[in-house]
Amino acid sequence: MRRPLIAGNWKMHKTCAESVELVSRLKELISGVDQVEVVVAPPYTALAAVADAIKGSCITLSSQNTFWEESGAFTGEVSPSMLKDIGCTYTIIGHSERRQYFGETNATVNKRLKAALNASLTPMVCVGETLEEREAEKTIAVIDQQIREGLAGVSSQDMAKVVIAYEPVWAIGTGKTATPDQAQEVHQFIRQLLAKIFGKEIAEKIRILYGGSVKDENIDQLMVQSDIDGALVGGASLKADSFARVIKYKT
Ligand code: PEP
Repeated sequence: MRRPLIAGNWKMHKTCAESVELVSRLKELISGVDQVEVVVAPPYTALAAVADAIKGSCITLSSQNTFWEESGAFTGEVSPSMLKDIGCTYTIIGHSERRQYFGETNATVNKRLKAALNASLTPMVCVGETLEEREAEKTIAVIDQQIREGLAGVSSQDMAKVVIAYEPVWAIGTGKTATPDQAQEVHQFIRQLLAKIFGKEIAEKIRILYGGSVKDENIDQLMVQSDIDGALVGGASLKADSFARVIKYKT
């Protein structure tokens, strides 16, 4: 049985004080919720403060990215063990904004993924097609390549710990969500592909999140789909009330 996971990606929003205020309010609103794993991914500058604020709660911490080297002359980068040291359990890897604006490729996703696993950080690996790719009916081919190249060389044992987030690029921050059927179709394809590469038993353990304009109005219908194991939430995770409602989705 896969435990649902709802993660909030705060992107480049919130100062330290604002981050602590948001997570403290969230803590109050979701106290007693234990059927869902809750993760927040604040900006790097707020990780330490949020790590402190969530102590003793059910919320865990993620970074929004990680570098693949452990240490060295890499100005501006942060290593997986530094993130682990500050209290992160998870790291987001290969978000479409990283792919779009910062030259992230499947090859760099693969390096980050392996480095994160080595440091015992749990990766949330993002995949998803653009609008042009969907319209050209290339969705499955794009996802297939992102999964095969992004996860290349990872052992089945390690793979059981990895989380995948399917985030159609055309649905991120646009207010357009994939319909539950569109999302389920891709999630099912991803699970079948994972079964081919890593074996059915491992594929059944891997959590596959949906991301792309998830909010209170659509979370319930998404979560009833058999291959949707949670959500990666951007905009709706920036307010405690709306994020709490997403976390307390109804089945
Ligand atoms: C995201 O940042 O991964 C995301 C899905 O954003 P939004 O929910 O705002 O579309």
